[in-house]
Amino acid sequence: MNCKKCGSPGNVILRKKDSYCENCFITNTNHKFRACIGKNKVLRANDNVLVCLSGGIGSTVLLDFIHNGISMDSHKKLRIIPFFLHVKESEDASGSQAVKVIEQCRKLNFDVHIINISLFIESGTEPTSLNNIPQLNNETSDKFKRFLKSMPATVRNDLLLKIKRHLFTKYAKHLNCNYILTAETTTTLAINLLSNLALGRGSQIQNEVGFYDARDDNIKVLRPMKEISQEELTLYIKIKNLSPEHNSLLNDNSLQSVIGTFVTDLQENFPATISTICKTADKIGIKVDSKKQGKCVICENELGVVTSKLTALSATKFSRTVSNGRPENVDNFNSVIHLYDIKDNVNQSLFPHIHSCLCYGCSKNYSEMEISQMPNHVQKLFENK
Ligand SMILES: [Zn+2]
Ligand SMILES: [Zn+2]
Repeated sequence: MNCKKCGSPGNVILRKKDSYCENCFITNTNHKFRACIGKNKVLRANDNVLVCLSGGIGSTVLLDFIHNGISMDSHKKLRIIPFFLHVKESEDASGSQAVKVIEQCRKLNFDVHIINISLFIESGTEPTSLNNIPQLNNETSDKFKRFLKSMPATVRNDLLLKIKRHLFTKYAKHLNCNYILTAETTTTLAINLLSNLALGRGSQIQNEVGFYDARDDNIKVLRPMKEISQEELTLYIKIKNLSPEHNSLLNDNSLQSVIGTFVTDLQENFPATISTICKTADKIGIKVDSKKQGKCVICENELGVVTSKLTALSATKFSRTVSNGRPENVDNFNSVIHLYDIKDNVNQSLFPHIHSCLCYGCSKNYSEMEISQMPNHVQKLFENK
């Protein structure tokens, strides 16, 4: 088959039907990335942008896109000033992931700032290490590990995403960047979408998996890889001979890892699975409430508002209250009026700090953490409320 664009022999087949030559495929994919940024009209010329790299597939291709974009010499040039950041995870004990990112950046003559994720434990902003893995303070990293160990794997996976976002934002401020680019692939976003729904974060989906995360008032997180399919990424890596570091940082035996297996297995036989999930995400909007109550101190999403309608939270509370009640009281729960009473009377022992400084998802997480292991600066956030 010949290339759809230029008519020369095509050896790249997309979606089992569209044929391209390698040149047109690479040009097209780069164009798709720039078009995604362009059509969303968020970035302006010469904005400082923090690009967060994990070293995985999406991150490797994003780095290549940025290099191509800023090296262009035409009106299509990507006019941003990129800064690169890698957060070294505690699972990456050997540092192989960090070494990979340093190597990928060095090949393109970019500098990369590296920080350890365990810095979350500290309240200040430690300096980053340029093109080097920073020395790890054992006490800090042990404290961080103990904190993570104190919670179930599902809570840990959920919290790690919030921690990384917190560090990205903190270092964006530090490096004078108003924008952050992250490289989640459609597959990651599909898994995050379903996990967020299951964790009771339905109202936060736009911020968690949309193109644009507007939680912080000054610093916006953009996800420019969200329209590039896994198939395109894999072909791109192969043709350009790039070498990503493959590894999943999801903790096993968790809700997210089960959803991950479910989505990728289904995708094998039903190639439209992931794109369908992601398209559904775009249709779920955030209900903007004029009576804003403030932000959750952990995830920075809007705190849930007490609406006149019954919510899943009211149902959970009702069910728990009924289950805990004495049998002779059961008749009293027959009336809907009592359901409303329970809804308004938030039980702080079931959902600590809910609506005062934590959203539903973070309150549920908080109830499963060992508070004594929590970093001091996070504990203080609750005292001030
Ligand atoms: Zn062609
Ligand atoms: Zn929250």
